[in-house]
Amino acid sequence: MSETLLYEGKAKKVFTIDEEGVLLHHYKDDATAFNAQKRGSWKDKGKTNATMSAALFKYLEANGVPTHFVEQTDDTTIKTKKLTMLPVEVVVRNVAAGSLSRLLGFEEGRKLKAPIVELCYKSDELGDPLLNWYHFRELGVSDEELEFCEELGLKVNEILAPFFDERGITLVDFKIEVGRDSEGQLMLADEISPDTCRFWDKETGEKLDKDRFRRDMGGVEEAYAEMLRRVTG
Ligand code: ADP
Ligand code: UDP
Repeated sequence: MSETLLYEGKAKKVFTIDEEGVLLHHYKDDATAFNAQKRGSWKDKGKTNATMSAALFKYLEANGVPTHFVEQTDDTTIKTKKLTMLPVEVVVRNVAAGSLSRLLGFEEGRKLKAPIVELCYKSDELGDPLLNWYHFRELGVSDEELEFCEELGLKVNEILAPFFDERGITLVDFKIEVGRDSEGQLMLADEISPDTCRFWDKETGEKLDKDRFRRDMGGVEEAYAEMLRRVTG
């Protein structure tokens, strides 16, 4: 099978193969934070993120969410449909943390009255700014696409918040991406992992996600392994 590197991102390499309309996403052990100003790497990060993403995409599909997932082909590789991505990062939050705490002056850990959905512009150059619908229309994103993003974000949250709760984890917030296939169908894409979610242990409040790397807390490799165990164990 011939593989051609289509794109190398911060956490994944994306390849085209002989098969039309599909991609291989190879999850790396590399990590970046603060728009790639901070870099690191740890053992089995790629394996955890690929395996957790695959398990969650399967679970979401079984619950009626269209996703790009086709199959996991090895420990660190996922085969997906090839999509045209929207330049949008959809963030959904249940508890205040990170940029929402800064935006509203909320203490980290404050439970939100209802989930908050944010649409950010996927642009490393601009630092993924939070935009409104007027900005996105100016950038060529349609109202249908924006509505899909918001509804998808809320639906994924409705399915995954109880899934993690049953496993002793608070789903604090997460980021997803959306793309369109060759038949015009919009669907969930990219990954769902400790890189893209905040996971807090329900009992102890311990952080089991990328914030351990962002904030130099130590124990990041163990936290990722623990999250994989909770999801697949
Ligand atoms: P980044 O671009 O943020 O550094 P990654 O290292 O995770 O991110 O690279 C993966 C890239 O592949 C991202 O730009 C993401 O938007 C894109 N992508 C994710 N799923 C698909 C898909 N199904 N089809 C096409 N591109 C995708
Ligand atoms: N997130 C992400 N990629 C980004 C920005 C955010 O996966 O480029 C995730 C992040 O891991 C968290 C959620 O989106 O689960 C909300 O992140 P926030 O805006 O609070 O970002 P911070 O500034 O704290 O990194």
